[in-house]
Amino acid sequence: MYAEVLVELPARQVDRAFHYLVPAQLKDQVAVGSRVQVPFRRQKLPGYVIGFSSPPQLDQVKEISAVLDKGPVFDARQLAFARWLAGYYLCPLVSALQAVIGPRFSGAPRRVRGLWPADAHVQNPPDFSRAPAQEKAWRAALARPGLSRRALAAAAGVSAAAVDALAAKGLLLVREGVKTRSPYQVETRERQLAPPPLTCEQEKAVEEICAALQAAEHRVFLLYGVTGSGKTEVYCRSIAQALALGRRAIVLVPEIALTAQMIETFLSRFGRRVAVLHSRLSDGERYDEWMRVAQGEASVVLGARSALFAPLDDPGLIIIDEEHEFSYKQEETPRYHARTAALHLARERGAVVVLGSATPSLESFYAAGEGSYRLLRLDERIDKRPLPDVRVVDMREELRRGNKGLFSRTLLLAVQRTLARGEQAILFLNRRGFSTIVVCRECGLVLKCPHCDVSLTYHTNGRMLCHYCRYTAPAPAFCPDCRSRQIGYFGAGTQKVEQEVKRLFAGARVLRLDSDTAARKGSHREILAAFRQKEADILIGTQMIAKGLDIPSVTLVGVVNADTSLHMPDFRAAERTFQLLAQVAGRAGRGELGGQAIIQTYQPEHYAVRAAREHDYEGFYRQEMEYRRSLRYPPFSRLCRFLLSGTRAAEVEGAINVLYSRLKEFAGQEDAGQEGIQFLGPAPAPVSRIKDYYRWHLVLKSPREDALRAAAAAGLAACDHFTSGRLRVIIDMEPLNLM
Ligand code: ADP
Ligand code: ZN
Ligand code: ZN
Repeated sequence: MYAEVLVELPARQVDRAFHYLVPAQLKDQVAVGSRVQVPFRRQKLPGYVIGFSSPPQLDQVKEISAVLDKGPVFDARQLAFARWLAGYYLCPLVSALQAVIGPRFSGAPRRVRGLWPADAHVQNPPDFSRAPAQEKAWRAALARPGLSRRALAAAAGVSAAAVDALAAKGLLLVREGVKTRSPYQVETRERQLAPPPLTCEQEKAVEEICAALQAAEHRVFLLYGVTGSGKTEVYCRSIAQALALGRRAIVLVPEIALTAQMIETFLSRFGRRVAVLHSRLSDGERYDEWMRVAQGEASVVLGARSALFAPLDDPGLIIIDEEHEFSYKQEETPRYHARTAALHLARERGAVVVLGSATPSLESFYAAGEGSYRLLRLDERIDKRPLPDVRVVDMREELRRGNKGLFSRTLLLAVQRTLARGEQAILFLNRRGFSTIVVCRECGLVLKCPHCDVSLTYHTNGRMLCHYCRYTAPAPAFCPDCRSRQIGYFGAGTQKVEQEVKRLFAGARVLRLDSDTAARKGSHREILAAFRQKEADILIGTQMIAKGLDIPSVTLVGVVNADTSLHMPDFRAAERTFQLLAQVAGRAGRGELGGQAIIQTYQPEHYAVRAAREHDYEGFYRQEMEYRRSLRYPPFSRLCRFLLSGTRAAEVEGAINVLYSRLKEFAGQEDAGQEGIQFLGPAPAPVSRIKDYYRWHLVLKSPREDALRAAAAAGLAACDHFTSGRLRVIIDMEPLNLM
């Protein structure tokens, strides 16, 4: 018997199955899905058995050395999913398989000796009405079984005597057991909160989704609902229906939105049937949650991107909240987009997909318009609460009046008033805005590349450069449009803003949340918690504060400069800006107090800014689609990006030029004109050097996915021949990040 083994080396050169003989003594243990150890090029490597067949030559076949686990670690369906991922994203199958298998080897069940609630009493706890300390200890033991006597007393906030009393009554037993490292303390019984009666709009959405679940047919819904319209309630009702039909559900949310609040909502609704998966869990916790899914204990999986691979054999419903979020794209191999992968999975399994957003991605809204997705709308906020009032401040006007500071008078005044009323303000700075752009402070003109319609970036040598096509020009002394000499270079950071705020509002308590202050584990949460508890008046932050924050006493949100993200050298700059502004503005006025948002910009007439002011997603969509159509950007085409990097600049540039000419040859054979493949670049990537690696990229664009994939595969194969081991080649079949 010969097994086909995929060795655990994620390199293209060994991206195929190798044959190994299954020794007689291992015959019973080796199956598809087994993880084994094999000799490979004078080392012993772990590998995965993906099939059985006879090798072409029998003489050189080596033997499997060992089987590494008790049972198989993946099944045929998971293997099929991995094969699809590898084929779609052109990555090594072993990388795709590892993503699909998940954190299976990162932990092991932990056996501990400690105090466990006696089974006989779990269902029928005694009356604790005269022993509140014992009740606390009992609840703590239910939530966290297996603790020591002292740890349990501490967790419950009671004396050790209360714990001893429970043990004396036989309620707690000392024994050894498998301890689930659950990060969330779930009470054993779900809180029986009656769900609110649905609004008409919610009712209609739920009905349609449930009908599709009932029919067990694959359908995709786009739940387009303004912020605060109650999308979560629609998710919950749909999940309840899926569970009632004996199926299970996956709920994906952006990592940044996976807050305590969100988790709490799901736990209170579905209790221990929820497994939560995200990157802040320890390895052990993640392993335990994963196993609860694998063993069928949990039937609702809530998590970030990779939770899509949770081992559910029968996902009937897949929900993707904030489906427009860029964080659904994984920026390392396998470079999959969770939405794309979810749609594939759902098609395979006949599952219903619900994509939810207040500002859907252009791709999804387009698909809904074309009729491939069913559009469900929630146009009104719950309780008919108004959307926040958004004011746009023209910073050019400020300048004309002699204000050269970071803040307009309007924003200063608004902050002052907010502080005077004892309410809270958020100041948002979009640092995704990349390096330095060149702007005319008089007329707002941003200097752009004449060939690519992206903004030029300013370099310290006094020149501006296009990072798509390498066009370059000296930075002008005066504006080419209005002749003003007020040329500005932008890139103010959060620290600068903090400094200014402290200077202007002496006595105000200020917190800052950005990647610097949040670097320490848990500090992100601490900063937010402190702000929530009104330990500060003003929170300054980057996009980390844009999402999921729901603080009733925040009545003012200020966007210090909307333009930085507007002029990123990326064709999605307007889309990102609109989504961000809509989201940031949504942080204001969540409570009874109402609230307003103030957006500072040098381009108040830009359609992304105007649409954000009017809460007009569809207006934005129409404008943006025209731009995309005229330049044949997605959703009117698909992109593929090659990124080459290495420590020698000339070598990287030489290699990408060879790749470019090979690809042109390949594409030229087809001669499909507009339907064929177009190229952007090769050019240095906007971030042209990272850690001493020079980076060049080449973007392919085509309306035909098959043509694009064929070209990409050919280009990738070509790279194997002309690149040396010193060069790194990355291919991204669905690039969202072009930096
Ligand atoms: P979205 O996700 O669309 O921004 P949420 O799901 O956060 O909105 O809902 C906003 C608020 O409205 C939440 O506090 C939620 O509990 C509440 N809510 C949702 N549906 C209803 C309903 N049918 N009746 C009353 N309150 C509701
Ligand atoms: Zn000008
Ligand atoms: Zn250009």
